[in-house]
This record gives sequence, structure tokens and C-alpha cells, in this order.
Amino acid sequence: MKRYLFFTLLTATMLFAGWNRVHVSLEGINNLSALSGLDVIRSKPGYWAEVVATDEDLQQLSASGLNYHVEVADLESYYASKMSGEGPFGNYYTLAEANAILDSLHEKYPQIISERMALPNNVSNVTWDSNYLWAVKISDNVAAQEDEPEVLFTGLHHAREPIGANITVEWARWLCENYGNDPLATYFVDTRQTWIVPVVNPDGYLYNEENNPWGGGMYRKNRRPGGGVDINRNYTYNWGYDNEGSSPNPNSDTYRGPEPGSEPEIQSTMNLCKAHNFVACLNFHSHSGLFIYAWGYIEEETPDSMEFFNWGEAATRACHYVVAPGGSGLYVTNGDSDDWMYGETEAKNRIFAATPEIGTDFWQDELAFEQVEATRPMLTATSMAASAYPELEDVTWLEGDDGEISPGETVGILIRVRNMGIKDPTGDISLSLSESDPRVELVKSNAVIPSLEPYAAGSNDDDLLEVKVSPSAKPDSAIPLTLKISAAGTEFTHKLLLPVGKRLTLIDETFEDKQIPEWNTNFFVADKGPHSKKYCITDSPDGLYGNNAFYYLESGKFDLRNKLNLELTFWHHYEMENGFDWCLLEVRTESSPDWTTLKRWSRTQKSWVREYFDLSEYSGSKEFQLRFVLQSDNEKNEDGWFIDDILLTGFAGKETVGVHELADIRTLPAAVNETVAKDILHFTAPAGSSIHAVLFDAAGRKVAETHCVAPFEWKLTDNLGRTLAPGVYFVHTYSESGETKTKVVLVK
Ligand SMILES: [Zn+2]
Repeated sequence: MKRYLFFTLLTATMLFAGWNRVHVSLEGINNLSALSGLDVIRSKPGYWAEVVATDEDLQQLSASGLNYHVEVADLESYYASKMSGEGPFGNYYTLAEANAILDSLHEKYPQIISERMALPNNVSNVTWDSNYLWAVKISDNVAAQEDEPEVLFTGLHHAREPIGANITVEWARWLCENYGNDPLATYFVDTRQTWIVPVVNPDGYLYNEENNPWGGGMYRKNRRPGGGVDINRNYTYNWGYDNEGSSPNPNSDTYRGPEPGSEPEIQSTMNLCKAHNFVACLNFHSHSGLFIYAWGYIEEETPDSMEFFNWGEAATRACHYVVAPGGSGLYVTNGDSDDWMYGETEAKNRIFAATPEIGTDFWQDELAFEQVEATRPMLTATSMAASAYPELEDVTWLEGDDGEISPGETVGILIRVRNMGIKDPTGDISLSLSESDPRVELVKSNAVIPSLEPYAAGSNDDDLLEVKVSPSAKPDSAIPLTLKISAAGTEFTHKLLLPVGKRLTLIDETFEDKQIPEWNTNFFVADKGPHSKKYCITDSPDGLYGNNAFYYLESGKFDLRNKLNLELTFWHHYEMENGFDWCLLEVRTESSPDWTTLKRWSRTQKSWVREYFDLSEYSGSKEFQLRFVLQSDNEKNEDGWFIDDILLTGFAGKETVGVHELADIRTLPAAVNETVAKDILHFTAPAGSSIHAVLFDAAGRKVAETHCVAPFEWKLTDNLGRTLAPGVYFVHTYSESGETKTKVVLVK
């Protein structure tokens, strides 16, 4: 008998020996039910799917007659071999590390970040393995439940997706450490109540730590006895809707549990949502570069699909993920967090919830900090979304017909603002201009932009701001102005630089000449319903683009030294296979010769729309280039991309390192002490002056930066809060009164 039991145990262990990354061919198969029970990473119905499959799952796939090949076998060993080996989980935070960071933040900033709180489930405060779900709250008056919009960020519903802990914990750190210095962090702490649950599945995460202490563990579910539950299939909204979106089989990686809401972890997060009024929530997962939202359980959009999409576009500004509903964009899932948060409206309010699937793999140790940086705009956009938020999008200087802003001239100013709130209109937006520079005089300093609906943009077309440039101002200079934008009880201050000089036209391409020798391209000039006059440019004038297409429209090189206020506009429309084929706008310079994507477009946009990009950050580069690229994958093609009326302009002006030089330097305060002890820099500029300071290392790499008001002491760490090595650094400061460059020696 003993012998028999031993044999059974061994067999079971063998079957679960490993997880594999598997490419499944779905040629001609639109029904994905054969993938039921697998963790689907990405899929294109009718073509292929990428899944995580255990050895046992592979037998199921074989039995169902699907063609597949194993791309990476035994993922745990594969990931373990790629870990840095620097401590448990490498750059990822273990549960203990995440807790320790939150504790140290609370110790340092007790006014704005709470102690860790254990979230109660329906029975107790603990999970199957007697662990706690820890949460912290960040807000001014953190102990009080205030009447401020609430947002929620969670990580690690799935135990093999560690990046969620880093992203959420680093957001807490960013808010705390920048409160009082960075205007946005200060605004979020003052006007939002932010809740963070870095590890929703502590049991599974600890199980991975126990079995793969150096990282790479592929266990996904919680630790319910009998094989665990996929807690992101256990939420109660349309729980168990079908067996494709979750599995009834306890051995499956997507097992939904015995009953809706049966799992302690899910009871805890649901109780938290019921006790609060979260407006928006991000549930961080990995992987494959997606920003997905409801509905998950069916292939349909919600009535709020435009708001979801616009939010996703704002959230993925820096990382360029695919933005789509889960069910139609990826693969159906039922009982997931986003459907419940959005769909359940009896026990709580409706929450705009989304799931960012971070990165391109489960364990990407070497990229962990980079991914935290690249995804910060997601948390920013989500925190903004919680109430009306007027964001400055574009400043246009109306220089008159001579194409020049001259001394003595009156200049109109058009301000374009977008509401980044997901449900509240802004109400009337007041613009107010002020100056502290004798070279400019205010003519009309106040204007109004009528109320904007969520994600709509508008400008003061009928109510221009106006300033008069002093006759004594020098041409080719730039004059600072301060713009205040107020709406919905909030006020935001922006520094503007009024360029004095000629507007330079670097590109003015209407494609009317048909020959375009200035461009390097394999696009075609065509008379296919242009935006203006007769011609535009397109990839495939006589039909669809092909498989693996690569069309490019590449500009010549532009010298942007001594040029300011660089603005690119163009018009386009497109039909692309959503999420798989892309139109990209890219740039490169001599100092970063690889093409960088500024934005990319997929889906379908049938009518001509205008795009606007502020390219001022590239002023100062010697060899600047633009490129429009259409890129398609292996299968399924569409009509493609139509582009017209490309315009790149700027003003003559002086360059500096990274920011525009203020032409009139009146006082140059000694910015900092020159030898630094204990990592502290003292700014000795006049009290009340606001300073932008950037720290460079001896090799000229930017290490950290801060915006502060003097007097100020800057505790020197890098942007992730890590201590700096002793050595030589350079501090550049920029303020109203000028700029300084100071060498400092960091001593230990
Ligand atoms: Zn996940």
C-alpha cells in the first residue's frame, strides 16, 4: 500500500513538473474553447495563440488535435537562469521587502501615508496560509476619510507576476518623496485618497519564494487546499459565465473556485471597494504590453468604451501598449477584477478598472526598474482621471502675417487644454497670464475656455490672450511668462517662453509637387481624397498593405541648434488591424541614433484628423530626423495609412542643456555648496524663488532632478531613491533669474 501511494505522488509531481511557453496554431479556428483552462498571454483568433501550459496541459492540447510548438520549456529554470542573483527575487520586491519599504515610508512621512493595514475578508483577517493582505492609504490628513476622490492600485493577483509589487510600492514612494516639491505629486496627495495593495495573493507569492527563492517561480493561483484558485476568476460578477473564460477544473491555472467570491483574498479586495468610492483602479499584471478593461466575460464593449479607450491612450503614452477591452482584444475571462469593479453597482459605485499587462515576460529582472519608470504615466493618468483635470496640451503664438514676433508687436496666445478626468466635466476653465519681465506687457491677461467633457480638448479661440513685446526686447530671445489654469477648484501653474523672432518653417509638405526628394520613402504620393488640394501620401494606393509590410517616410536631417518652440502638426486617417499592425511616428537625433516612438496608432480612423506634437525637447540637437512607419505582422491586412500637410516649425532662439535658456540673466545666485556631506545639497538662492535642479554624474548622465522652492535642502538620491556613490557630480539649476552649473563632490 505504501509503495502504491508513493507511486501516485510521484506521478502527480511529474505531471506538474513544469510550465512552458507554447505557441498554438489556430489556423481557421475562431472558437478558442480548446484553450479553456490555459493562461492565454496573447491570441489572434483564426491564427494563433500564445499560452502558458503545464506538461499536463500539453497532453490536453495534443488530445484536442491542435498544432502547437513549445517555445520555451520549463520556464522556471529559464527565468531562474536570467535572474541577476542579487538577493531574493533580484530587483523584484519580495513580500517582506515591499512591506519594509511601506513601513519606512510611514515612519518618514506619517502625515501622508498610513501604517500598513490588514484587509479583512468575510471570516477573518488572514488567508488560507494565515497571511495578511496589506494595504496603505496615501493622502493629506491620511487618518481621516475625506470627501476626496479615491483611487486604487493593486499588484499580484497572480503570484508569478512580480512587477505589480514594484510598480505600486514605487508609486507610494514617489508620492511621499515628492510631496511638497513636485506639483503633480503634491496635487495627488492633497486632492486624492490613494489606496495601494501591492500583493493581493501573498500565499502564492510566498509559495514561489519558498520554492524558487532567487526568482522565476511560475505558481499562479492562491493556496486553497486542493490545488489553489485563480483569484482573478473568483470575483462575483458573472462568475463562471462559461468554461472558456474560467475553468471548473481545480487542476487548471484558471480554476475559478467552488463558489463566486469564495476566496479570502477576493473577499478582502471586494470589501475594500465596498467600503470606499473608488473612481478608478489599476490591477497590475504581466505580461505582454496590453492595457485591457471591461468587458472581459463577453466580446463586447461597455457603454463607457470611449472613456476607457481615452484613459488607456493617456495611460500608455510612454509605453505604447495595446489598448482594448479584454474579451474582444485578448481572450474572454469571467470572474475577473475589472468586470466586477466596473459592472457591480449595487454593493458599491461603478469603478473604472483596467488591467495593465506589463512587459514582455513574467520575470524580467533586468528591466524591473525601467518598467516602473515607463509605467508611471499609467498611475498619473489614473490619478488625474479621478476628477476633472485640465491639462495644458498646446500653446500657439499668433505672430501675424509676417511670420515673425517682433519687438513692439502685440501677440495673440491660443491655449489648448484637455480634460483628463474620466467622468467629470471641468466647468469653465479660467486662464490667467502674469509676467515679471520688463520686456513684455500684458494686454489681455484673462480668458475662458468653456467646460470640457471627459477627454475632450478645447481652446480659447474666441477669447485670445494678448501680450505686447517691448520695443527694446532683443530678437531671437525668449521671455518667460506664467500661465495659471484654474478649473473645478484646482489651479495649475505653467511657465511659458514667448519667442521673439522669426517663425522658421522646417517642413511644409503638402505632396502637391508629387516628387519629394527631401524624403526617403517607399510610400506613394496619390490623389486619393487628400486633406488639402490634390495629393496626399499613402502606403498602398491600390489596395491593402501586405503581410510583414514596412513602409517608411523619413525626413532629412535638421539642425535644431538655436531653435525653440518646435511644433509638428500633420493630418492623417488610417485603417489598421487593431493591436497587431501599427502606424508609428518616430524621431532620432545624433545622441540617440535609434528611432524612438513618439506615438503609434492602430484601429480605424476614417476621417482626417490633425495631430500635434511639441518637439521642443529636441531643440539643441544637431541632426534631428522624423519618420512615419507602417508596420504589419504576418496575417490579416487593411487599407493602411494616409498622411497629408506635414508642418514642422520653430523660432530662432538660443539653446541650452535640456531646457530653454532665459535670455535675460539678472542675478546668478550661488546655487549650492560645493562640498557635500551626508548627501545634502543646500540651495542658497533667494527665499521663495523656484528652482529646477538637475544632477549629472561625471560622465554627463542625468542622475536625478527636482523642482523646489528656495530655501531647500536636496537629499541626493537617484530617481528611484537609491543612495549615490561618492564622487564628482554636476548640479545644473534653472530658475527665473538664470542658470548655474556647479561641480559638487559627494563625500561619504
Ligand atoms: Zn495576471
